[in-house]
Amino acid sequence: MKTNKFDLHVYLIVAIVFILAFILAIKVPFFADFSAIIEGKTFDFRQEILSHSKKPLNNPVKIFALDTKTYEFINDTYGEWPVKREYWANLITEIEKYNPKLIVLDFMFPKKSKKGGDELFINAVNSNKNVVVGMLFDYEEEENRISAELPKNLKNEVKNDNLIKENPRLVFPNSQPILFDILNNSKNIGSVNFTRESDGIIRYMPVLVNYKDDYYKNISFVSALNYLDINKTSFEIKNGKLLLDNGFSIPLNDSGRAIMNWYNEDTFENVSLSDVHKAINDGNEEFLIDKIQDKVIYIGATASLLNDIKSSPILSMVPGVEIHATFFENVINNDFVYHVPVWIDLLIAVLLSVFAVFLVNRIQNIVVSFGATALITVSYLILSIFLMGKFNIWIGIIFPLLSAATFFVTAYILKYILKSRDYEHTYKLAVTDVMTQLYNHRYFQEQMVAQTQNYNRYQTSFSLIMSDIDFFKKFNDTYGHQSGDAVLKQVAQIMKSCVRSTDIPCRYGGEEMAVILTNTNNEDAITTANKICEAVRNTKVTLATGDIVNVTISVGVATMPKDGLEPKELIEACDKRLYKAKENGRNQVVSD
Ligand code: GH3
Ligand code: MG
Ligand code: MG
Repeated sequence: MKTNKFDLHVYLIVAIVFILAFILAIKVPFFADFSAIIEGKTFDFRQEILSHSKKPLNNPVKIFALDTKTYEFINDTYGEWPVKREYWANLITEIEKYNPKLIVLDFMFPKKSKKGGDELFINAVNSNKNVVVGMLFDYEEEENRISAELPKNLKNEVKNDNLIKENPRLVFPNSQPILFDILNNSKNIGSVNFTRESDGIIRYMPVLVNYKDDYYKNISFVSALNYLDINKTSFEIKNGKLLLDNGFSIPLNDSGRAIMNWYNEDTFENVSLSDVHKAINDGNEEFLIDKIQDKVIYIGATASLLNDIKSSPILSMVPGVEIHATFFENVINNDFVYHVPVWIDLLIAVLLSVFAVFLVNRIQNIVVSFGATALITVSYLILSIFLMGKFNIWIGIIFPLLSAATFFVTAYILKYILKSRDYEHTYKLAVTDVMTQLYNHRYFQEQMVAQTQNYNRYQTSFSLIMSDIDFFKKFNDTYGHQSGDAVLKQVAQIMKSCVRSTDIPCRYGGEEMAVILTNTNNEDAITTANKICEAVRNTKVTLATGDIVNVTISVGVATMPKDGLEPKELIEACDKRLYKAKENGRNQVVSD
């Protein structure tokens, strides 16, 4: 297929519309959110596939689960929930005996305890440097919360913070602190906040959260820094990445959050806290060493009745504590996903679209070109999964494939239109006489047959007019062949203008012209013939030499069925009358 100007215009318009849609999809909040969610679903799809085989290389985490069994056990034993703080103080002391690497407390019971329980708890936390405590920043009405003045030692300085500055997803107006003595004395405190996407799924984690113009670390970030032995309160964000001293870097997305990799379901061993409790009571050292020594113990709720169940890209019901543990594993394994910048998605979209158009133009067979496009789509999906699995790179799927599909369809429509236009053009050439632009002799014969068939079926009579220019030789001889041609062309024009669009004016041969008058009886045909004869007589014809002359024609008329029932009969009858007109002195119509 030739690419002409018309094509390029259409492609240009499609491209501009697409780019506008793209800008809309990333700049206008409603559309941006919508398109981010759709693309987010493709992220979930990739993570789902990859998670079957994905495990963190280095996995020191054990989850001590506040499961239903533990909840019932505590209620039965202590008669209350939440249990008094001395219970947790005791638990920390007991666990510490078996040398855990870290104890991360992903639960909060902000209500004060009576009778010295708080003091025991504060002491247990502050005397053990490896205990990390969660704190909640929240969106509740300020008057419903104690808006804490958080101590200086928890604040973090952030350089080049354009990404996370003033990002509503990271800003929390209140904080719900656990005991102030912990806040004031411990550095190992971190936020347990995360934000869901508008489809309810948690895909990203704020590494640092914003509260009253200061930045605070996420609880698992605090834990991971402890684990990696990096003690910092100042962070640098460079080229959209949060850099750590050990060479790790955490890529951040447009909302300043880290894009997590998700591991398969069996990654985190859940140990019921009630079993730990029993092992402590029974002195089951083997069990406790196995579960605690050198481990990072996350203590958190897994029972759905404790309301800490969320949705992740790969699981619809996942305890919050597992999400924190996943984040921890992402940090210590340097395993975050990097979302390529928008311009790369745009570039891929352009390349795929060009390729789709190329395929449509090159491959004649629609099934083959559709198959090839499907193959490329599938290959692209596989590539996108591979890049995420192998290199932690997230390339866009929705925009590039949507763009390619649009161009594929556009190319097909154009190809179809051009093909039919091409066909029409060829057909017109085949049935037209070049000089007069009337139908040619072959078409005349075809139409005579077609009209006869039409008559045979529906008994609709039709007529034939045949004309011959009077003394035509004279024009040729006197003014030259070109002037003869000029006469022919002008007479043809006059004839055309005298008949209906449903009539079929033809060049019969030489300077003889014919008109098939469809659906026309003899009387009307005679009227038309006279009209033509008169029009030619009354028109001044300009010759190639510039001379202006008068031209006349002689005309014969015949009608089916009156003058014959076959094309041949009708033509003969008409021809006879034409010569009768010549004999009678030319410049007239003869119809019988
Ligand atoms: P009559 O009134 O008896 O029809 O006289 P005439 O001179 O028109 O005689 P005739 O119909 O026999 O002449 C046809 C001439 O038309 C012969 C031929 O040279 C000329 N002719 C046929 N086709 C063309 C053409 O395409 N261009 C030109 N210039 N002349 C043509
Ligand atoms: Mg003739
Ligand atoms: Mg003639």
